[in-house]
Amino acid sequence: MTGSEPCDACGDPIEEALARTVQLNVDRSEVDNQRLCPACFADWIERYRTEMQPRATESPVDSDADIIVD
Ligand SMILES: [Zn+2]
Repeated sequence: MTGSEPCDACGDPIEEALARTVQLNVDRSEVDNQRLCPACFADWIERYRTEMQPRATESPVDSDADIIVD
């Protein structure tokens, strides 16, 4: 049993307390599930928002997509 697992993005070992499991659900279908360190987690959220956000919008993204962080 290892104390830490590598980040899926950068490969750095993640301490248990800092582990982030990102689960992206769209229409209840799991499309992404990865373990990220805090830095990569923030980066991932940023990228997700950029990719999902319409080119021009006045209102916040309102869809069935949910980001669940456990
Ligand atoms: Zn990382």
